[in-house]
Amino acid sequence: MKTIPHWINGNPTPGSAADTQPVFNPATGTEQAQVVLADATDVDTAVQAATAAFETWSESSLTQRTQVMFAFRQLLVDHEEELARIISAEHGKTVDDARGEITRGREVVEFACGLGDVLKGNFSDQVSRGIDVHNFRQPLGVVAGITPFNFPAMVPLWMHPIAIATGNTFILKPSERDPSAANFVAELYQQAGLPDGVFNVIHGGKPAVDAILTHPHIQAVSFVGSTPIAKYVHETATAHGKRVQALGGAKNHAVVLPDADLEFAANHITAGAYGSAGERCMAVSVAVAVGDAADRLVDILKRKAREVKVGPGDKPGTEMGPLVTKAAQERIENAVTTAATQGATVVVDGRGLKIDGHEEGFFTGPSLLDHVTTDMDAYQEELFGPVLAIVRTDTLDEAIHLINTNPYGNGTALFTASGEAARRFQRKVNVGMIGVNVPVPVPMSYYSFGGWKDSLIGDSPIHGPEGIRFYTRPKVITTRWPQPTHQHTAGFNFPTSS
Ligand code: NAD
Repeated sequence: MKTIPHWINGNPTPGSAADTQPVFNPATGTEQAQVVLADATDVDTAVQAATAAFETWSESSLTQRTQVMFAFRQLLVDHEEELARIISAEHGKTVDDARGEITRGREVVEFACGLGDVLKGNFSDQVSRGIDVHNFRQPLGVVAGITPFNFPAMVPLWMHPIAIATGNTFILKPSERDPSAANFVAELYQQAGLPDGVFNVIHGGKPAVDAILTHPHIQAVSFVGSTPIAKYVHETATAHGKRVQALGGAKNHAVVLPDADLEFAANHITAGAYGSAGERCMAVSVAVAVGDAADRLVDILKRKAREVKVGPGDKPGTEMGPLVTKAAQERIENAVTTAATQGATVVVDGRGLKIDGHEEGFFTGPSLLDHVTTDMDAYQEELFGPVLAIVRTDTLDEAIHLINTNPYGNGTALFTASGEAARRFQRKVNVGMIGVNVPVPVPMSYYSFGGWKDSLIGDSPIHGPEGIRFYTRPKVITTRWPQPTHQHTAGFNFPTSS
């Protein structure tokens, strides 16, 4: 049985290896490796390596750092297929979908390649006679990222390229359910010329996370995962004096107006709901059918849900793979049962799906629930699986009210032919990322990613300009070079300019 080690100071290491956990192939249901789980000593070893590396890395030139990023970017291109297969084998998503996440993650590296431009400071000449002011930003030190299972490459890539390019050193604690992508990325960084100790990987669960959140030499923590853990991470790490960005869960609504092209909307909502088996924080989990769009929309969604090709992620033509664990499969099938008990109509039932040759895989088919109401569990919970709930409203304003009273505010979309409706929607809806006829509106790397309300705890979205701000702190310098003719007297009053 393969053992997946930590990656500390440029080397794979088992650490204390006090504990391990199985890593499954979700398509076959078989255990394929054991991942080592860190204790506080392992975390401290990584922090010591990252602290030592910070001494030299933070002094390296902008040119050196961007050259590493350019080389790393090329290696991500060259090894995309290999990395996509590693992701698919542990997560279950299709290889093509994994390629998509690598591309979107690589775009953050491309943003980091332009560091010279985004790190430029300001200069104000002659703010007072003979006095100039300028500013610049400096790295924080050792920073850490704690990431979820659903994007084992992309979500960490939202963090480490920006942290590292701005001169920090980084400790990644990926999900213990699909840990191998992180180690593969560590090897690519090494090949790109990144000095040892600048990027480290620690595997583990709560003990490893707690050691990160409380370690006195970690300056900042980036977290992406479920809302309860995001709240815990934010509270604990800020109580220990760290900067924290903590992105949480989601319940994303796609609103369909009667004037929309319903075939187009249903196509995109189907892909947004069932792509990656619904295990995306930007997945469409609620379709809000407005007015007389409802019956026609449900008919098309029903047809499309039945057409989704479910199978192992490495089989060409598969559109939707298995869920990540058996527990997730059971949770989703129970949620469909509960929805039926609570009065929802199960229009398409994904329960009990068996894939030939993969009978032990963690598969469930796409489920479509109609007449879902806000008091049902299927509406209130983030199911994080291939279940699309349809809620009916009479007007767009009612749909906006529905979204605004939901505790989450990650992504939302409106399908319409009306510019006026789209403008009203984007101005009134309390959600961080909005699509107009775009179902999964994930911002480009040079914008920042982040929701509102319970989808983002604290105040810092991730990557793009917000990422630069998060991983650096500003200095403002006020300078005078006295001329021989200057008076050498100093006033005792608080300095003002003249
Ligand atoms: P999770 O919250 O269970 O785990 C996230 C990380 O926290 C993992 O590294 C895990 O090891 C750690 N963790 C889990 N339980 C912990 C505990 N009790 N104490 C300390 N650390 C703990 O999330 P997940 O199941 O891996 O991922 C799915 C969740 O992530 C969904 O809620 C999804 O919406 C969310 N997500 C959000 C975004 C976003 O950008 N907002 C992106 C991707 C995923």
